[in-house]
Amino acid sequence: MVTGKKECPKCHGEGRVKEKNGTIHICFDCLQDGSMDQHDKKIKDASEFGIRL
Ligand SMILES: [Zn+2]
Repeated sequence: MVTGKKECPKCHGEGRVKEKNGTIHICFDCLQDGSMDQHDKKIKDASEFGIRL
């Protein structure tokens, strides 16, 4: 779903990027762009996005 903005090529709008080694982290592009969901700005610890997959 794209709302006016073009889809982020890194995370494809998911707000998370998966590296080749399997690590998942916040998409910094989206973060800087402010296109991440506003609710997610309350993330206290990036480790929350360190993900448990
Ligand atoms: Zn992104």
